[in-house]
Amino acid sequence: MALVPVPEPAGRQPAWARDARLTPALPADLQLSMPKKRRNGGRSRKGRGKTRQVDCVHCMCKPPKDKAVHRFNIRNIVDSGAMNDLRAACAIENYVVPKLYAKSYYCISCAVHSRIVRVRNREARRNRDPPVRFRRRPEGERKEGAGDRRGPRKAGEGAAAGAAAAGAAATDAAPAAVPAAAE
Ligand SMILES: [Zn+2]
Repeated sequence: MALVPVPEPAGRQPAWARDARLTPALPADLQLSMPKKRRNGGRSRKGRGKTRQVDCVHCMCKPPKDKAVHRFNIRNIVDSGAMNDLRAACAIENYVVPKLYAKSYYCISCAVHSRIVRVRNREARRNRDPPVRFRRRPEGERKEGAGDRRGPRKAGEGAAAGAAAAGAAATDAAPAAVPAAAE
């Protein structure tokens, strides 16, 4: 590769600058497309030089706060099975068992390893939507769903349910019995 002469700057130069003048220059198109995986380098410093370090809950390394993956977990102190027993044995009526509020930070390695975030391809990386939130379904709906999920599902049954769901989605609130391809 040809060495491109750089005009001699005025004044004395440090050694590293003299050496830098001798580095081979890249073609112009390569210079314009330097590899950069993410615009923000996977961080959100927002003009700050650095941010404070946090503890990864998994490996106890110290990722910077703006880089760490954080999740705010709210869950019951006891699990749902024990909750019924607790409610039955409770002396106070309508006692609300307190919840566990925990903010967890993960380093990138642990977040990927524990599948909180996934490796995404170039196009999917552009997606900046917030993560899908877990939504608890209403009581009646949940019971139906639980019945469906348990036990072996017949092939015809599953297909019919799928077709009905697809039809409902396609006709958009029209009754599922009406075929979508009527017109
Ligand atoms: Zn970690």
